[in-house]
Amino acid sequence: RAKLAGGNRYQVFSEDMHLMARDRLSLEIGLRQAIERDEFTLLYQPIYRLRDNALYGFEALIRWQHPTQGFLLPDRFIPLAEETGLILPIGDWVIWRACRDLQYWHEQFPQCQLSVNVNLSNRQLMHPALPEQVLAALEQTQIPPHCLHLEMTESVGIDQPDQVRETLCKLKAQGIKLSLDDFGTGYSSLRYLTHLPIDILKVDRSFVKLITETEQRPLVIDAIVSLAKGLALEVVAEGVEHPYQVTRLRELGCDYVQGYYFSRPLTTEQVSALLAQIHTP
Ligand code: C2E
Ligand code: MG
Ligand code: MG
Ligand code: MG
Repeated sequence: RAKLAGGNRYQVFSEDMHLMARDRLSLEIGLRQAIERDEFTLLYQPIYRLRDNALYGFEALIRWQHPTQGFLLPDRFIPLAEETGLILPIGDWVIWRACRDLQYWHEQFPQCQLSVNVNLSNRQLMHPALPEQVLAALEQTQIPPHCLHLEMTESVGIDQPDQVRETLCKLKAQGIKLSLDDFGTGYSSLRYLTHLPIDILKVDRSFVKLITETEQRPLVIDAIVSLAKGLALEVVAEGVEHPYQVTRLRELGCDYVQGYYFSRPLTTEQVSALLAQIHTP
C-alpha cells in the first residue's frame, strides 16, 4: 500500500520502520544488561480472601527502572524478552527475588502463611530445567511449596504440550499451586482446563469490568465461577475496582479478589508496613 501511494509515502513508512528497529535494538541491548545492573524490581499486589477478608498473598509484578526511559511496565519489555529468550534469565531472577522477599516476610511475620504469585512465560514452562530451578529457590529459602503460586496463561502448552504437561505435573507433585491467568481471554480454555493440572482460575479483569452497579446477575462471571466450582478449582477475580463488584463476587462464591479497589501494586517497603499494621497486637 505504501508503494502504491507514491515515493513520498514509501519513504515515511520506511523511516518509521527504521525508527522502530532502532528502538527495539536499543531496548534489547538494555535488556541484556538490566539484570547485572540490578535495574529490575518487583512490586507486590495484595490478594484478599473473601471468606474472612484476610490478606491471602501477593502477586509479584516486574518493573524495569530503565536508565534513560524511566520506570517501564512489563508490556513494554516482556514481549521482547520472550522473543529474544532473555525471559529465561529474567524469569529466573523473578522467581528468586519473589522467594527471598517472601522468606523475609515469613520470618518477620510468622503468624501469616502468605503466598506469592509469580507470572511465568510459556518459554519458561517449555524449558526442561524449570522445575529444578523453582525447587532450588524453594529449598534455599525454606518456603513451603504451597505458598508459591505459578501463574500461566491459557496459551500454555500450545507448543510442546507433552513437555509442558510433564513440567506442570512435576511442580504440582511438589505442592506448588498452579494458576491460570487472564482466564477467558484465550481461545482454548476448556481443553486446557481438563488437560492441565491447574488449581486456581484467575478471571480476567475484562469480565470483572462487566459487573456494573445496576446489574443483578453478572452472567459471564457467574458462569465462570460455576465452571470453576464444578471442576473443584478456586477462583480469583482480578481488576476489582469498585465495592459493588466485591459484593457481587462474594454472592457468586468467588474465593479471592485482587485489584485497585483493595490496593495498587506495592513496593517491598510498603508490603512490610502493611504486614506490620495487620500484625500489631
Ligand atoms: P497480569 O498477570 O494479569 O497482572 C495483572 C495486571 O493488572 C498488572 O499489570 C496489574 O498492575 C494490573 N491491575 C491490577 N489491578 C488492577 C485494577 O484494578 N485495574 C486495572 N486496570 N489494572 C489492574 P502490570 O503490572 O502492568 O502487568 C501486566 C502483565 O505483565 C501481567 O498481567 C503479566 O502478564 C505480565 N507480567 C508482570 N510481571 C511479570 C513477570 O515477572 N514475568 C512475566 N513473564 N510476566 C509478567
Ligand atoms: Mg498474573
Ligand atoms: Mg492476570
Ligand atoms: Mg492480565
